Amino acid sequence: FPSRLPNVGTTIFTVMSALAAEHQAVNLGQGFPDFDCDPKLIDGVTTAMRQGHNQYPPMPGVPVLRQAITSKIEALYARQYSADTEITVTAGATQAILTALLCCAGPGDEVIVLEPCYDSYIPNIELTGARVVRVPLAPGTFRPDFDKIGAALSPKTRAIIINSPHNPSGMVWSPEDMRRLDELLAPTNALVISDEVYEHMVYAPLRHESVARYPGLAARSFIVSSFGKTYHVTGWKVGYVAAPAALTAEFRKVHQFNVFTVNTPMQHGLAAYMQDAAPYLELPAFYQAKRDLFREGLAKTKFRLLPCEGTYFQCVAIDQLAVPERDLPEADFCQWLTREIGVAAIPLSAFYGDGFDQRVIRFCFAKKDETLREAVGRLAAL
Ligand code: PMP
Ligand code: GLN
Repeated sequence: FPSRLPNVGTTIFTVMSALAAEHQAVNLGQGFPDFDCDPKLIDGVTTAMRQGHNQYPPMPGVPVLRQAITSKIEALYARQYSADTEITVTAGATQAILTALLCCAGPGDEVIVLEPCYDSYIPNIELTGARVVRVPLAPGTFRPDFDKIGAALSPKTRAIIINSPHNPSGMVWSPEDMRRLDELLAPTNALVISDEVYEHMVYAPLRHESVARYPGLAARSFIVSSFGKTYHVTGWKVGYVAAPAALTAEFRKVHQFNVFTVNTPMQHGLAAYMQDAAPYLELPAFYQAKRDLFREGLAKTKFRLLPCEGTYFQCVAIDQLAVPERDLPEADFCQWLTREIGVAAIPLSAFYGDGFDQRVIRFCFAKKDETLREAVGRLAAL
């Protein structure tokens, strides 16, 4: 039968993690921590299970978790979302993004993505039947180019997906960037899907600019976040969407016939854990120390460091390396690095619809310090 996604294979994250396991490489490819979450979070889930929270929760998520999410958003970004009508708990950010797209875009519509972008966005847009409009971020800096975004807007634009802090570049949007997007979209009906899964990983002196802080943007936005990143539990696949009531109503129509709802005990465990703000308030310092350790190590190698303002990803250019493999396509270089040097990374070309190759690869530093030191030791050989 005809494929809905003829150009799609297995995701680069799956491919590189399998290769890393096969070659016992240090896996700095797929973005996930190699350390465990706070045992208190696990206790909260097992307590919920023992208390009998094991049947279907309400379709939009358990009320205590939705309340904890609205309280957090209000405390951090000074905007009130109704826990009843404006928050939906999702099966991770991936499901949230697809569901948001399905409820707003279809054949004849256009959706803008800013490249490089997370690998699910383009196939997700294709599944809706809408046309993908790819707009490059500025070469080298990965900052948004508002002239190009403006030129890409059309009466058919149904949505634009933005992502700050940005995977893979680690770039963080400034207040000026947010104001410019707000101005640009003001005369349009375009919606925003704002992927903020790394909201708690922004490094000093910057702060996270959630669309929630900007009334004009908030009114047209689905804000997407994920507990996987924030609480070191990527395998739990729990996230949420915050959006004005009219958008949430449409979102829930699709959500209820997509997953219907999300596992109950995890939601209760997360709600209890969210009562303490310390874990997410302490996250920037925790990851900043890892970023700095990793950057100090890499600075002594021939990899050329790109800036990292947020996320747990560090991009490096490979063009100055002393080995001939530096001239391989990024994807082949990453395969070679995994097999021969024993460190897995992700080629940036995986984040472009056309596989654009700029001699840059991405490492994940959400790892134990000893893992980062081991990786740097192996990379120093190049
Ligand atoms: N968006 C971005 C930018 C991501 O990096 C990720 C996870 N790596 C996701 C979405 C998906 O998050 P989840 O695992 O919660 O589905
Ligand atoms: N978001 C993670 C990354 O960018 C991976 C998620 C996945 O494996 N799909 O590495």
